[in-house]
Amino acid sequence: IKVTFTPIRRSEGLLTGTIIVLEDVTEEEKLDQSRREFVANVSHELRTPLTTIKSYLEALDEGVMDDPELANKFLGVTRNETERMIRLVNDLLHLSRFDSKQAVLHKQAASVEDMLEIVADRFSFQLQQKDIDIALILEDGLPDAYVDSDAMDQVLDNLVSNAIKYTPAGGQIRLEAYAVPGDWIAFKVQDTGVGIPKKDLERIFERFYRVDKARSRDMGGTGLGLSIAREIVRAHGGTIRLESGLEAGDQQGTTVTFTLPSVEKEVKNRV
Ligand code: ADP
Repeated sequence: IKVTFTPIRRSEGLLTGTIIVLEDVTEEEKLDQSRREFVANVSHELRTPLTTIKSYLEALDEGVMDDPELANKFLGVTRNETERMIRLVNDLLHLSRFDSKQAVLHKQAASVEDMLEIVADRFSFQLQQKDIDIALILEDGLPDAYVDSDAMDQVLDNLVSNAIKYTPAGGQIRLEAYAVPGDWIAFKVQDTGVGIPKKDLERIFERFYRVDKARSRDMGGTGLGLSIAREIVRAHGGTIRLESGLEAGDQQGTTVTFTLPSVEKEVKNRV
């Protein structure tokens, strides 16, 4: 609590009273704290790949270059790390646009089936490589969604790539869409992967929050995928939630469910 004292004086300077203002600054402080944490996280996330790149370049400079096979491997590492940094900076720019309310959504009618098929196609190679089966389950007669297609593509991309990353070979992914009352469409991305411990569930949508930092980095993750997905879904007026492990009713696996407006909702809004 912040306390300010303001003396009240009469024109001749006589003190007649004091105004005491008590301000609850808990929220402000929390915001400040989370801002500081965010900057520390960003710095750390950028320093890690930079340090790796530097040491590999030094090794190349100090003789590894003469061994073409090893040199190639080292160059591969620096390229991967560079790509991850680019992803990270792009994700950060994306988030900052949402934070400053500058993100503009170009909403229009979009076929739900197309959205799911496009994302399944995009990952078909990775799915095949990991021997992960993908199933698309669409409710009959589903209306179009009223969304920004590029933004939705990113949501599905983030969720499906997580499902693939955290599901061991031989697993299964289900992409489901169905209507919910109030002219919403629900989307479900379900996997049979490693799941998320209960204690982490509450914080899983926070920026840079990961169950296993090293593992996420190894997989090329930035730790921002879920927070971006949540920003985009919320910007459409929808909600997103994640269930995992026992909470989802089985021993393992993760289910992310989010809702988006259907065109019918938009039509009714216009009337
Ligand atoms: P990352 O780039 O690390 O994947 P995300 O924001 O997409 O960042 O996810 C945050 C963390 O949530 C991940 O590091 C991982 O620990 C956990 N996670 C997300 N999706 C899944 C999933 N489908 N199965 C298991 N863990 C997941």
